[in-house]
Amino acid sequence: MFNSLSDRLTATFKNLRGRGRLSEADIDATVREIRRALLDADVAVPVVREFTAAVRERALSAEVSGALNPAQQVVKIVNDELVAILGGQTRALQFAKTPPTVIMLAGLQGAGKTTLAGKLALALREQGHTPLLVAADLQRPNAVTQLSVVAERAGVPVFAPHPGNQGAETEVVIGDPVGVARDGVAEARAKQHDVVIVDTAGRLGVDQVLMKQAADIRDAVQPDEVLFVIDAMIGQDAVATAKAFEEGVDFTGVVLSKLDGDARGGAALSVATITGRPIMFASTGEKLTDFEVFHPDRMASRILD
Ligand code: GDP
Repeated sequence: MFNSLSDRLTATFKNLRGRGRLSEADIDATVREIRRALLDADVAVPVVREFTAAVRERALSAEVSGALNPAQQVVKIVNDELVAILGGQTRALQFAKTPPTVIMLAGLQGAGKTTLAGKLALALREQGHTPLLVAADLQRPNAVTQLSVVAERAGVPVFAPHPGNQGAETEVVIGDPVGVARDGVAEARAKQHDVVIVDTAGRLGVDQVLMKQAADIRDAVQPDEVLFVIDAMIGQDAVATAKAFEEGVDFTGVVLSKLDGDARGGAALSVATITGRPIMFASTGEKLTDFEVFHPDRMASRILD
């Protein structure tokens, strides 16, 4: 995902190797190269601005350790600031004091929500939890079936408005997604599942009906976590999409999907700063095991490796 950005940053740092103290002009030239590399990687402009201002200020001040040479100092500063724009700390799922913990998924169609539901369910099951998946995406004819397939692969039950295996590509599912979500959570409580994952509908673009439906589901099930799933390959659209979901449903955390892709990755680097919400998980492939907890520091190291 970040190959090109990594190469550009590495080349920038290479120019500094073997240099003595850096002048203000040297630092400005370096910051300019970093700015270009970030913009070319589709990182959102306000994030680039914040990032480069912080790097410049810290590089000019003598705050860093005397044990590092100037090139190493710049690498350390860039690393620290990457960790900062990626959200700083690793943020774990917050479980409800009284089960079930309700996790709602939101995002555009194709973002990777349904796949994520299976990945999260499998990971939680392996940690000893007893998740129930709830199919509240009634917009797409095949969505209930798709969630049922994913649930079976994850080895967890699914609550759906009708048996998932009856879904067909041409079938039009009509129903009440808010009611399904509410009933799903009630079912989890009755059957003593300690976690409920509610999959919701996505549209190809942000739209008000979708937002209202997601907000209604949120109000009905009072989730402990609302995870906004975003395709890391969507580039500059990430900012508008993330902001629309932040305003429409509000979310507690972000999941970056398709981090295995070879796009430029600006969405991944912008979304935590743009929304002020932590990136909690990363999806890195189509298999249910292609899933990891997101660690800002490890991601920064990977970019600068
Ligand atoms: P939804 O519409 O948000 O529920 O999205 P889906 O879960 O149906 O995913 C849309 C497509 O993206 C499917 O073909 C998935 O197999 C694929 N997909 C989901 N997550 C990933 C990922 O992390 N990497 C890759 N390469 N593909 C993914």
